[in-house]
Amino acid sequence: MKIAVCPGSFDPVTNGHIDIITRASKLFDKVIVVVMVNYHKPNSYFTASERVELIKRSIPGDIKNCEIEMYGGLLAEYCEKKGASVIVKGLRAVSDFEYEFQQALTNKQLNPGIETLFITTDQKYMFLSSSIVKQVSEFGGDIRQFVPAQVHDDIVKRIKERNRFE
Ligand code: ADP
Repeated sequence: MKIAVCPGSFDPVTNGHIDIITRASKLFDKVIVVVMVNYHKPNSYFTASERVELIKRSIPGDIKNCEIEMYGGLLAEYCEKKGASVIVKGLRAVSDFEYEFQQALTNKQLNPGIETLFITTDQKYMFLSSSIVKQVSEFGGDIRQFVPAQVHDDIVKRIKERNRFE
């Protein structure tokens, strides 16, 4: 069974993430979306378990081979534990490349059995990131076209709350 892992912060999930997860689910027997708990990024808008829940609600119902988890350690170790041989990453622009290239080589060094597969972003999501979603919504912009409809209201609500307390 070919298992792939789709890692990320997903703070919060966007249509760009769902596009990559959906496409990966067609290439592998099983896809594990893993919310990385990153202690270097303590200012996340959503807790790791909230991010897991938002992704669960956003995955299209016809995708049956996808699991969502969170993890706070090394990705290479996680893959080993799960029997996953592929890390799937979405690639947006040249700006993503340098960092992703470095990550891919590091993971290969740590676990030579892992391949990193880059899926090119859909043109319509080229500009889209979790940070863009937060920025637009913070200033009252409409993010309906950027995030899955099922989780839109919860995302807007949290961003509003954060603004109020800061
Ligand atoms: P971001 O905060 O930039 O959205 P994440 O760490 O949550 O980044 O991203 C998780 C994965 O999803 C990464 O592989 C990232 O490259 C990919 N990704 C994020 N946004 C997009 C997008 N708009 N199109 C394609 N891939 C994307």
